[in-house]
Amino acid sequence: MTHLTRFLNQIGGRPYESTTGRWLRSTNPFTGQDWAEVPLCGKDDVETAVEAAHLAFTRGPWPSLNPSGRGKLLRRLGDLVARDAEKLATIEVKDNGKLIAEMLGQLRYIPEWFYYFGGLADKIEGGVLPSDKTDVFAFTKQEPLGVVVAITPWNSPLLLLTWKLAPALAAGNTVVIKPSEFTSCSTLALMDLIKEAGFPNGVVNTVTGLGSEIGAALVEHPKVAKVAFTGGDTTGAAVYSEAARHIKHVTLELGGKSPNIIFADAKIDDAVKGAISGIFAASGQTCIAGSRLLVQRSVYDEVSARVVDFARSARLGNPLDGATQVGPITTQQQQEKVLHYIDIGRGEGARCLLGGGRPSAPELAQGWFVEPTIFGDVSNNMRIAREEIFGPVLSIIPFEDEVEAIAIANDSIYGLACGVWTSNIRRSFAMANAIRAGTVWVNTYRAVSFMAPFGGYKKSGIGRENGQAAINEYLQTKCIWINLGESVPNPFVLR
Ligand code: NAD
Repeated sequence: MTHLTRFLNQIGGRPYESTTGRWLRSTNPFTGQDWAEVPLCGKDDVETAVEAAHLAFTRGPWPSLNPSGRGKLLRRLGDLVARDAEKLATIEVKDNGKLIAEMLGQLRYIPEWFYYFGGLADKIEGGVLPSDKTDVFAFTKQEPLGVVVAITPWNSPLLLLTWKLAPALAAGNTVVIKPSEFTSCSTLALMDLIKEAGFPNGVVNTVTGLGSEIGAALVEHPKVAKVAFTGGDTTGAAVYSEAARHIKHVTLELGGKSPNIIFADAKIDDAVKGAISGIFAASGQTCIAGSRLLVQRSVYDEVSARVVDFARSARLGNPLDGATQVGPITTQQQQEKVLHYIDIGRGEGARCLLGGGRPSAPELAQGWFVEPTIFGDVSNNMRIAREEIFGPVLSIIPFEDEVEAIAIANDSIYGLACGVWTSNIRRSFAMANAIRAGTVWVNTYRAVSFMAPFGGYKKSGIGRENGQAAINEYLQTKCIWINLGESVPNPFVLR
């Protein structure tokens, strides 16, 4: 039997297995072999984790640590992630099949979130209120919410966790993390760094296991104040309604079917590169995938041919090899889902211009690969244009003019992101104004930053991550009235 690397949870500052005594295996998407295992936690473990986080929030060193102290801890954590970037990147590649080149870039960038929100920790200000009452002094304070549950998906475990963890801790909350059952290892590895950075016991805790069991138990736990969720919109809706029953704070980062729009006046070379990175980065397993490529009819044939040629050159292979350009799909279940959507596209009458199945190369046979696939002549009514596939499948849709491009782009239940490729400055602004999405990129795609708010319109989510305002998602306002009068007047004598 192959040796499995074992990763443990941390609860209350200690390594923690589970009360079930059972384990969940992580399978390497390139080799198809199990390589690691994590505890399969149950509801009792949820109870232990939430109690630890609640205790750390209410008593001990964390609530008495001043905001600058929290900032220092976050900056130290950023340094440790930078130090261990390669190690964490390698774990995540084995766990979810993303390219080592992308993961190294991501891990070297993640510290910026800890530095940025660490810097914000002691800039959370209340205000003195003007008053219409005499002898009263009133002011506001921004206070943390309490125990925050962070639930993350499999496609970018550490990055999407960081987007929650950094502002939640900067604001003074404590956290219980529930990573995806398919990709828990990098999160558990990060816990060692959180301990090394010096965060007090119980400030950050993890529970690994199935979403339907422990995810739901975390959301409904009475001592959890907020759920910060990234995942699919069906799960997001379940989390939202459960949280509503218990009146909890929620942020939801959900799916997308983002349009990437190429006008005839664009620099076509750049637009083609933008189309490729929009859909084939991370094998299309990103919420911001530009999965609908809208191309103006006068350049439709030329752009389609060039996108197909570019995609054909992609080197599929071992994601741990720095030269690989497209890696496998993270889970076998997802690979089957993507292949099923390709069948649906064919059945709907879309023309398959490239790919359309598993690659035939023998060295890829063990991995969960799907060829970069491009459908032409797609109508926006087809399921492949309406539903999130979350794989390397591009639908090219023609349009005549700006009005039609806007109509097609906005004709979606989602509104996460949009790309616009044009040399016309007026058109850049007109499109940016008209598109119903949380992010619009003009002549670029996939740019994100710790400084820039990120989130969805419509079914793509609620709330924003990143940027200064994101910290407000983890704070609540308290208004304090101080009576400075000599005495309290007689309440039966109304003035
Ligand atoms: P998912 O919704 O299946 O799972 C997400 C997380 O929720 C996992 O940790 C899972 O265990 C947990 N979960 C499942 N059922 C639960 C329940 N009833 N209560 C609480 N938690 C539960 O999503 P996934 O398949 O892991 O990830 C892919 C999806 O995530 C895609 O739809 C993608 O678009 C979306 N996503 C969105 C963003 C964004 O920022 N908008 C980023 C990445 C991924």
